[in-house]
Amino acid sequence: MQELRCTVCGSNKIGKGKLEGYAALIPMGKIFTTGSAVIVDVCTECGTIIRMKVEKPEKFKIQ
Ligand SMILES: [Zn+2]
Repeated sequence: MQELRCTVCGSNKIGKGKLEGYAALIPMGKIFTTGSAVIVDVCTECGTIIRMKVEKPEKFKIQ
């Protein structure tokens, strides 16, 4: 696992959060889908969001 480091304060104390429910990311152009939760890496020192990524990237593949 790669080490994440905050680009603002330099801290490596990175916590993880999750956006779910209405904040889930829905693939564009697909009607019947539930979308994917978004995983967020947050610097626990200054609150900067380091990275956001979807939990299920395969849902966004273009067919
Ligand atoms: Zn920071």
